[in-house]
Amino acid sequence: MSTIMSHAVVPLAAAVAMGPGRISPKVAIAGAALAMLPDGDVLGFRFGIDYAADWGHRGATHSLVFAGLVTAALALVWREARSTLAALFLYLSAASHGLFDMLTDGGLGVALYWPFETTRHFAVFTPIRVSPIGANFFSARGWETMLSELRWVWLPALVIAQAGWFARRIRQSPG
Ligand SMILES: [Zn+2]
Repeated sequence: MSTIMSHAVVPLAAAVAMGPGRISPKVAIAGAALAMLPDGDVLGFRFGIDYAADWGHRGATHSLVFAGLVTAALALVWREARSTLAALFLYLSAASHGLFDMLTDGGLGVALYWPFETTRHFAVFTPIRVSPIGANFFSARGWETMLSELRWVWLPALVIAQAGWFARRIRQSPG
């Protein structure tokens, strides 16, 4: 994507769908943070790191390996991140960032398989308008980005969260 808030929505919706009995609110928030973390790489622009470089935007920090490393690092310092389910949730949260960026229609692709290869990838289907870097969200372009993210991220996330919540309610209700 995408706008950073949209990345956070993905794990939050999954956590709501699964329920607090499986994914605690704390783990859910950690997942949202991990889903936003990869775009910290835009700081590299300030230090003269090129977009296309390994550590440039959408480079190493957007890879599946990096997602594994940050999940492992978090598990080292935080006991709650060590259960299999929490670790899996956190890993998928971190990995979802690169996968969603691959659905955007612009910029450079994602170095999903770093460090094994540095090729930048896009998904076959790229429905999400890429958000302009250093974005002016109030421009026409920013508006278009918001609309495409609402349609392709927020709406499905809301549906999934609600479906999971509803399924749990039905199971819990007596009779
Ligand atoms: Zn990104």
